[in-house]
Amino acid sequence: YAKEREQFGKAIATFQNTAFKLADMETELQAARVMLYEAAGRLDGKTPDATRWCAMAKRFVTDTAFKVANDALQIHGGYGYLADYGVERIVRDLRVHQILEGTNEIMRVIISRDMLKD
Ligand SMILES: Cc1cc2nc3c(=O)[nH]c(=O)nc-3n(C[C@H](O)[C@H](O)[C@H](O)COP(=O)(O)OP(=O)(O)OC[C@H]3O[C@@H](n4cnc5c(N)ncnc54)[C@H](O)[C@@H]3O)c2cc1C
Repeated sequence: YAKEREQFGKAIATFQNTAFKLADMETELQAARVMLYEAAGRLDGKTPDATRWCAMAKRFVTDTAFKVANDALQIHGGYGYLADYGVERIVRDLRVHQILEGTNEIMRVIISRDMLKD
């Protein structure tokens, strides 16, 4: 969409603001993916820090996924908010994961409690 949509006579992808946003979105998404697999590996390996890592991953991945989807909505402008491109559905679906299966505030409780024990 960013390569197709033109404003001021140019594709919006040629604006550095858009290109930098895309770069940050990809970086944040891949960082979240790496963290997810790291936590999953620790859970499979039954390491003593698996609970802390899973809480950190749940908090970080769900916050990051929501932010990246919301950034995608912004790049689509008004169409992002409407149903046409399906981005608003992704944003809505991701929002609940900051609440489900223990809110992200509770994940912070779990992480900090583990950090401060002993
Ligand atoms: C679509 C959907 C599907 C669901 N499906 C299921 C399901 O299948 N099975 C199931 O068991 N549950 C399910 N839930 C419930 C879900 O797990 C809870 O909504 C979630 O755990 C949050 O609990 P709560 O709604 O009671 O919020 P509350 O506990 O009332 O929290 C309200 C706010 O206060 C904050 N808060 C609460 N306690 C603390 C604290 N100690 N420190 C700091 N902040 C705090 C929370 O982070 C939140 O921001 C579902 C919820 C939704 C929306």
